[in-house]
Amino acid sequence: MRSNLAARDVETLVHPYTNLAAFRETGPLVLERGHGVYVYDTDGRPYIEGMAGLWCTALGYSNEELVEAASEQLSRLPFTHLFSGRSHDPAIELAETLKELMPVPTSKVFFTSSGSEANDTQVKLLWYMNNALGRAAKKKIISHVKGYHGVTVATASMTGLPANHADWDLPLPGFLHAPCPHHYRGAEPGESEAAFSARLAGELDALILREGPETVAAFFVEPVMGAGGAIVPPAGYFEAIQPVLERHDVRLVADEVICGFGRLGTWFGSESLGIRPHTLSFAKAVTSGYLPLGGVSIDEPLYRAMLAESAKIGTFGHGTTYSGHPVACAVALKTIEIFRRDRIVEGVGAKAPHFQARLSGLADHPLVGEARGIGLIGGLEIVADKGSKRQYDPKAGVAARCVAFAQAEGLIVRFLAGDRIAICPPLVITSEEIDALFDRLTRALDRTL
Ligand code: PLP
Repeated sequence: MRSNLAARDVETLVHPYTNLAAFRETGPLVLERGHGVYVYDTDGRPYIEGMAGLWCTALGYSNEELVEAASEQLSRLPFTHLFSGRSHDPAIELAETLKELMPVPTSKVFFTSSGSEANDTQVKLLWYMNNALGRAAKKKIISHVKGYHGVTVATASMTGLPANHADWDLPLPGFLHAPCPHHYRGAEPGESEAAFSARLAGELDALILREGPETVAAFFVEPVMGAGGAIVPPAGYFEAIQPVLERHDVRLVADEVICGFGRLGTWFGSESLGIRPHTLSFAKAVTSGYLPLGGVSIDEPLYRAMLAESAKIGTFGHGTTYSGHPVACAVALKTIEIFRRDRIVEGVGAKAPHFQARLSGLADHPLVGEARGIGLIGGLEIVADKGSKRQYDPKAGVAARCVAFAQAEGLIVRFLAGDRIAICPPLVITSEEIDALFDRLTRALDRTL
């Protein structure tokens, strides 16, 4: 039965973010188990999980402490909820712990089950708040071209990628996109990172003025843009845009769904990149990906507005069955305990120079236009011509071929639109495993030539 899993998959499953027609030919890679930074397919073949699953399995696979935390909570109280004032100890303790950790003034925490729901909640709270404050016109949301914030109707509208808009009848009105802060692609010839940042801040200012500051509620940013291409914004970018937002009373929301929990060598990406958000969204590594959990921080002004509005309406009309699921909260608490005890974030800081040196080494490869990264995240920009930065015809699928060769070499990395490749291994990766990852990726690039 197990041997025909691939065929059964093709007959029965619709896969997210997959070319459904091509998939009928290729079929799935069926994974069966994991250990450390390795995952194993149904033939027992090992792969370095160079994407930490989907940017989430920070502590790697087969972490018995996380399994025990889940198991203990499953035995004790597998489900209760937070509706209508019901509560449970894992949610209370986790909210307290997060309040201590998050680099934002936090009054309260609201839990969700995913990053999309977290960002969707942020949008709804902004609308709710501005209604409470009597500024009903201040509802527009700005995010970046190539930003990624999720797949709900609102968060797919915020996402700045063509595949999330084309034929989905999105973005909704009121969702605007500012230029992508990618120096390699967006800068004028000879423009420094600082000058590029200043120019983009000017363009953001112009966009807000054009729309009318009284209509713009917030700007959502990822510290490092993940799905858009593992793009690290240029030096001075956040310093340049924050005064613009302050001037127009536009709130700043940090989408920490990838960068939160150590990825850049600080607990949250905002700390590495000088971002001072009003609120942030988290998900993924908060449970090391072992169970679905996300959430948002809520600052005091937002909370005051929520109090007033819910008193007026009679209830705070938002939340899902699994907001603050007790088993997910228990696993998140254990994840954070392990992070603190094993100094995982400090470990990222220690390993990052080696990871980044190996990544930079790929910049010499004939196919690589730019090798960029920070902490334990990296991106490659595949080009046909390094001098002119000309890209291959997307139909040639060059980066996708490289990712397939990497898989044949025993490495999982991720193809991203625009001929980009992302690398984002578990934070517990060792120096030797970093070398093995980049050796395999180099061989995959060579095979792609
Ligand atoms: N925000 C960012 C920055 C993400 O990378 C993702 C997912 O990759 C999301 C939001 C959406 O999270 P989810 O897939 O858990 O809904």
